[in-house]
Amino acid sequence: MHMGPKGSQGSGSAPILCALDMAGMAELVDAPDSKSGFRKEVGVRFPLPAPTTSGDKMKFCSSCGGTVSYRVPKDDNRERAICDSCDLVHYRNPLVVVGCIAERDGKVLLCKRAIEPRYGYWTVPAGFMELGETVAGGAARETLEEALATVELGHLFAMVDVVDAGQVHLFYTGKLVGDYGVGEETLESALFSEDEIPWEEIAFHSGKYALEKYFQDGGRDNGVHVHELRRSTS
Ligand SMILES: [Zn+2]
Repeated sequence: MHMGPKGSQGSGSAPILCALDMAGMAELVDAPDSKSGFRKEVGVRFPLPAPTTSGDKMKFCSSCGGTVSYRVPKDDNRERAICDSCDLVHYRNPLVVVGCIAERDGKVLLCKRAIEPRYGYWTVPAGFMELGETVAGGAARETLEEALATVELGHLFAMVDVVDAGQVHLFYTGKLVGDYGVGEETLESALFSEDEIPWEEIAFHSGKYALEKYFQDGGRDNGVHVHELRRSTS
């Protein structure tokens, strides 16, 4: 379902207040890191800004190959790519990245990337969620693919909105079961204590954030840390 400007949001015990100002541009504001941010008012104003990931704008319809035009469909609130031939409306929505911090004896498993972007940098095992799997299943699968490691998943502990990339990154804790190795997208895998982590060589801000929060929590369930990355920092 695509929520229009009149849509309401609710999230159980963590209320998010929705304020509309039709004259303004969208502005999503949250505390930089915060479980406390859940209690803060989040202002949402329409119309939403044009996506900043405009470099890969769709030109042709994926169904019939016709050219597309950008306009606001009836009963919608923002521009979509609409096929000039078959009228199909192409919705684009954020992608979910799932990852896992796999731990053994106080050390966490990191992989040195064998692919771009960030070739040669260290990363928490993570990647795009696939159709047909759960968030937890994806986190476990990425750990298996990148580090040939089986994990006993713990709890979801970090969520990072990477707004300008159109992504949401979700991180689980996990206990390493058995051995680990080097997957196809990896040059090297290794366990690091907090002091040993090559903090300046971590591939992505979201992974670095997850690592920081993991060690702050001591791996214990301390709720979900929420963070937002914008172009200036991501
Ligand atoms: Zn078409």
